[in-house]
Amino acid sequence: MRFSKLFAPTAKEAPKDALLPSHIFLIRGGFINQTGSGLYNFLPLGKRVLDKIKDVVKDEMDKAGAQEVSMGVVSPAELWRQSGRYNVYGKELLRFKDRKDNEFVLGPTHEEVVVDIVRNRINSYKQLPLHLYQITTKFRDEARPRFGLLRGREFVMKDGYSFHSSIEDLRLEFDLMEETYTKIFTRLGLKFRAVAADSGAIGGSGSKEFMVLTKNGEDDILVCDKCEYAANVEAAKRAKKTTQNEPPEAIFAKFHTPIGEDSSIEQLSEFFKIDTFYTIKAVIKKAVYKDKSEIVVFFIRGCDALQEIKAQNAAKALELLDVSKEDIKEAGLIAGFCGPIGLENIKFFIDNELKEEKNLICGANERDYHYVGVSMFNFKSDRYADLAAVEDGDLCPCCNGKLSLAKGIEVGHIFQLGQKYSSPMNAAFLDQNGKSQPFFMGCYGIGISRLVAVMIEANHDNKGCIWNKQTAPYMLDIIISNIKNETQTKFATKLYEDLKMEKKEIILDDRNERFGFKMNDFELIGFPYALIVGRELDEGKVELVSRVSGIKEFINTSELNERLKEVFE
Ligand code: ATP
Ligand code: MG
Repeated sequence: MRFSKLFAPTAKEAPKDALLPSHIFLIRGGFINQTGSGLYNFLPLGKRVLDKIKDVVKDEMDKAGAQEVSMGVVSPAELWRQSGRYNVYGKELLRFKDRKDNEFVLGPTHEEVVVDIVRNRINSYKQLPLHLYQITTKFRDEARPRFGLLRGREFVMKDGYSFHSSIEDLRLEFDLMEETYTKIFTRLGLKFRAVAADSGAIGGSGSKEFMVLTKNGEDDILVCDKCEYAANVEAAKRAKKTTQNEPPEAIFAKFHTPIGEDSSIEQLSEFFKIDTFYTIKAVIKKAVYKDKSEIVVFFIRGCDALQEIKAQNAAKALELLDVSKEDIKEAGLIAGFCGPIGLENIKFFIDNELKEEKNLICGANERDYHYVGVSMFNFKSDRYADLAAVEDGDLCPCCNGKLSLAKGIEVGHIFQLGQKYSSPMNAAFLDQNGKSQPFFMGCYGIGISRLVAVMIEANHDNKGCIWNKQTAPYMLDIIISNIKNETQTKFATKLYEDLKMEKKEIILDDRNERFGFKMNDFELIGFPYALIVGRELDEGKVELVSRVSGIKEFINTSELNERLKEVFE
């Protein structure tokens, strides 16, 4: 490609709302342009990078035996009603009507559609397993589209769906996908971890997220410093917390604690001169369900914080809201003195780590009173759930190593869905005994357009992008230093034509611009190499510049072919 013909509208300034390097450089480098909130067009350079990422993903998916399809962007609301998700999926699902008043959605994900494709077409266990995938545009009406391609409303995703005759077979595919994703992100040259995750709106059990570790990640993850353990904060486990501090040993009794309404756990532990570890904290929330909402109390150790997603899952709620003083009063609770003992007519859950613990102090559900010497033996097991947030410095559940908090960007997510969609949608097969069973399903996503931005978050400097060989829009930028110099232009053009014949991915910067201007574009766009054809050509030399290392080397034109072979390898 000749730069003079290339449509790459580069810019000196980034838009005001662009805060992250990927957003700034994608716009400034002329890779993409924005048409609306969370809506982007891919310009020629951006499209090339997008396609390269697609190619790597497609190659590995095909090797793993999955078959590519392409499903419609619009899908009938009826399918979403069948799965029961139409009313559950929040405002991210864009619902609309056509001229005949039929309802539709813009596909944010395609479980329903793929189930509809497969049901009544696959009837026997003999036709299983089957894995269908696509690389297409999705739409999610995100509440806060931001960071350019990292969180768009329209974005490109690879989504795959597998169908199995047993859980065991589904697990095999899940493992194969973990392996496949590992190959994909390794080929892209990314530093990543597969982390245990919450399953979110897609649901099912058993899911892993692939997180690229970068400074500007939106996700908080905990990473073990000793073993491979890593998890999203929403799903992180830890070795049970302990303390060296003495427990407040006491016989069970009600104790006068006039520390005032709305008193904090710190005030309580100060009152008793004990470690907050031995206190029980009540976190009161309003849980929202499909057709009602109710007050739910979560009890955790005083030293811990409530992990909201864990709590939401425990309460099987759609959402948890903060409560007002009035809400608390109305529910008959006394702020600052709420405890699990004798708590009636209120839904409550207790953190797993409190199970069978002794010498605790908790609210007595009476103003100015707490119980001391509390033992946690009398609660039914379904009261207990994993509720506490794992924090930086907690110990690894696998090896007791130290967990530290890191930032990650989710680039992939794999789920074991089981029969969550096949069952309500009546998608079944006949098993070996001639019995009808809903399919066991898995689903597997990769954020293709998000990866374009992630590649930059992972590799850039203050001048611009630094693409690697796998994702560079072009490998080499041949820069004619002064296009008025006939020798330079002739040499560079001949080299360009020769390399083009060899199908090499190259740019010839033949623009009538200053050398410095061209170098700036080279650095901003981030081609892996530039070959400068300048004054030294008179001495039979050209200069090769590596974008990643910044190293410049003069090469004799007689040795150029050999050296370039290495560049393109
Ligand atoms: P997130 O937690 O980031 O909102 P998600 O869990 O909703 O993502 P999935 O449903 O698992 O996303 O979708 C699969 C992949 O699609 C994600 O791993 C991510 O890489 C990508 N993706 C999801 N939402 C967006 C978005 N708004 N913009 C760009 N890519 C996205
Ligand atoms: Mg996800």
